[in-house]
Amino acid sequence: MSLENNIEEVRKKIKNVSLKANRNPNDIKLLAVTKTRTAETIDEALHSSIEFIGENKVQEAENKIPFLKENFKEFHFIGHLQSNKINKLMKLNPDLIHSIEKYSTAEKLNSYLIQHSQYQDVLIEVNTSGEESKFGLKPSETVQFITSVSKLPNIRIKGLMTIGLFTAEETAIRNCFIKLRKLFEQIKAANIPNVEMKYLSMGMSNDFEIAIEEGANIIRLGTVIFGARNY
Ligand SMILES: *Cc1c(COP(=O)(O)O)cnc(C)c1O
Repeated sequence: MSLENNIEEVRKKIKNVSLKANRNPNDIKLLAVTKTRTAETIDEALHSSIEFIGENKVQEAENKIPFLKENFKEFHFIGHLQSNKINKLMKLNPDLIHSIEKYSTAEKLNSYLIQHSQYQDVLIEVNTSGEESKFGLKPSETVQFITSVSKLPNIRIKGLMTIGLFTAEETAIRNCFIKLRKLFEQIKAANIPNVEMKYLSMGMSNDFEIAIEEGANIIRLGTVIFGARNY
């Protein structure tokens, strides 16, 4: 098992499922989820054609992202964002934050951005599985939340993110993704000022093919690229 082979295999799968779903595989951003991996391993992945990397903990990202030797196109933050970590995260220049789901955090982020004359692209995290343990807004609260956050001038909402139900039951997973896709279309149709529905971030190692079938254009893959995680 080599990293390069894994990446090649994953790209093949993305291509096959995209073509079957009448989609252009080039429209799907493959985000390599690099949590728990060393900077050395990340460099190896970047060397083998990975362009987009995602981390879920600010402190871990701080210890790796600035020290990578290889170039990357984009760094995404995909984890739960605590408001006391905003300054540290922003120093890493995230291209996209996937996981805005609390108004007070969005407000603090906006204040930081105003102070630094910056703008930030974000996604709104929705809890489509209904699991209490997961972060994210209830689907029924999402439009209202987005309307509020859209008024924070330095935050740019670019789409939605979800984590599918963790189960072997395909229909239950698919329903999560269908729910997010419908919300995405609904919000797009609402034409809320300062909101662009461009990215639909859904699908992880165990369910990315279903997510692609249901319209994902960012998939977040760790295990299928790097192997099982050792915490
Ligand atoms: C860890 C993680 C992933 C990747 O999970 P895999 O199952 O290893 O592909 C994707 N999204 C988020 C938010 C994660 O925390």
